[in-house]
Amino acid sequence: MRLAREDLFWRIEPLLSMVERPSRYLNHEWGAVEEQPGPFHVCVMYPDVYDVGLPNLGLAILYDELNRLDGISCERAYLPWIDMSALMRERNIPLLSLESSSPVASFDIVGITLAHELVCTNIVEVLDLSGITLRADERDEDEPFVVAGGPSVWNAEPVAPMFDAMLLGDGEHALALISECVRDGRAQGLARVDILRRLAKLPGVYVPSLYDVVVDQTSTRWGYAVPKEGESVPEVVYKHCIEHLSDTEPVAQRIVPYLTVVQDRLTVEVLRGCARGCRFCQAGMTYRPVRERPKDQIIEAVNRGLQTSGYDECCLSSLSTTDHSQCADVLHELYAELGEKGVRVSIPSQRLDSFGVDMASAARSSRKTGLTFAPEAGSQRLRDVINKNVTDQNMDEAARNAFENGYRRMKLYFMMGLPTETDEDLRGIARMAERVAQIGREVCGPRSRVTVSISVAVFVPKCQTPFQWEGQLPLEETHRRQHVMLEAATDRAVRISYHDAETSLIEGVLSKMGRTGFDLVLAAWKNGCRFDAWTDQFDFDRWNDAARGIGLDLEDIACERFDLDARLPWDHVSPGVSKGFLQREWRRAVDEQTTKDCTMNSCTGCGVCQTLRVSNDLAGERQ
Ligand code: SF4
Repeated sequence: MRLAREDLFWRIEPLLSMVERPSRYLNHEWGAVEEQPGPFHVCVMYPDVYDVGLPNLGLAILYDELNRLDGISCERAYLPWIDMSALMRERNIPLLSLESSSPVASFDIVGITLAHELVCTNIVEVLDLSGITLRADERDEDEPFVVAGGPSVWNAEPVAPMFDAMLLGDGEHALALISECVRDGRAQGLARVDILRRLAKLPGVYVPSLYDVVVDQTSTRWGYAVPKEGESVPEVVYKHCIEHLSDTEPVAQRIVPYLTVVQDRLTVEVLRGCARGCRFCQAGMTYRPVRERPKDQIIEAVNRGLQTSGYDECCLSSLSTTDHSQCADVLHELYAELGEKGVRVSIPSQRLDSFGVDMASAARSSRKTGLTFAPEAGSQRLRDVINKNVTDQNMDEAARNAFENGYRRMKLYFMMGLPTETDEDLRGIARMAERVAQIGREVCGPRSRVTVSISVAVFVPKCQTPFQWEGQLPLEETHRRQHVMLEAATDRAVRISYHDAETSLIEGVLSKMGRTGFDLVLAAWKNGCRFDAWTDQFDFDRWNDAARGIGLDLEDIACERFDLDARLPWDHVSPGVSKGFLQREWRRAVDEQTTKDCTMNSCTGCGVCQTLRVSNDLAGERQ
């Protein structure tokens, strides 16, 4: 049932003194937009607490764009922490938006960001707390249209039954088109299903209820989705893709919160897409092609954002900021303008070569804390398998350059359980870390307090990548391999930490399953699972019990390998990269052959440019 629009802040106000971090629930932060004159209301929602959701740039971009449109008002909402949601349930208070404190269920559209697989139980929680009917196909005519978007839409079948529509690809212009379509359809008195049919004709919009799932001998046990009989919807929905980033407004996340949030700084996106072609990386495949924002736009956005927000730090964000062809110019110009004011410019991770270190030094010239690199695998052989085109020599030179530039701490990211991995590859991780520590002592002196921290994640095969057919390591084998690595690392300057294997297993399960995965998500939520990405909230036993209750075995699902020619649960949605290219890349991986970056060499045939009629759009020459 659609709830009435009314300001209900008076109902949560008495609860604020009873919860942790009450400022999570306060509106009117600096930079927020006041409720606009309607009549059409959109609520963009991050399904985690405010402190995690506020810095999300995608949400900031949509919020800014929708609030510029006449007749559309966009507000934000976040998932209350467990203390607040318990009190709200007790007192029968629905989930509210931040700006006008109106019930989320009173909006015309609720847009939810799928940031990663582990938010799935939070989405159930959001809808339940809002009082919105959980399954899209059971919603009343006047209930909000619930729309998903974000990086994890590529195998969103386990949450698809909760969404009226899912937006694949770039959100700019697309959410505006969706909003206009729903607004016009409602104004014309169309039935909900007819509005959904119109939505399914928009670029990048997938409407799950118009597709059936078929299981047959060509598919995996999770089946594949096909248009429902009589529905004229595309067999494959391709993503919506902005051709030139420079045609869009460079929006910064510039709302200043009342409390410390996870990335408490101004964030400006400098480029979208990455063509390096790491075979495990979903974002690398789904955000293609590369589109750079020109230098002048970046600098203008940083200056404007700093001026309006008062922040003293700015992050130049993207999948690979140091790949931007004007990165050096941008950093030097920003430093010349902002260095004296004490404003810090940061880049999220470093390219693994000397250029990367130079750029990091240019960005952080005042505080040289530590540097982070991601070699991902410990041997050249395995780095060739995953197409991580870096060598031991790149690593050594980058480390030497960093230590010579005054850095004393190095953090290295690796993965465990990559296809074809052997114990020798794992020992290679320890050897690489020890070599970096040794270079540090050579440069900085034997008594210097050089540290090298290595963080090892469990490889999770993701859809729309060349490794989408792979299985994940069983838990026992993960623990054995962790032991192999621990035994191999003897240098006291090297510290090893692991990502939790059970959490990765759930991620793997949700990455593999089709639409029936919703039964598991629902059972887990009913078992009390929420905030699964939070270490202190994640409860593997609850997930296990939920799975057993519906006859599923989690390990069995995550570790299953799919046939290379099987129809997959996500084949009906595409980022434009062809399945043929992914199969070819899988074969090249097994043969330990690398594939070059098409922004520095010729096209390697992934198909996105031809399919979506776009191309790599660089602001200058790449180095
Ligand atoms: S189609 Fe070719 S040029 Fe375009 S992103 Fe793919 S590999 Fe690169």
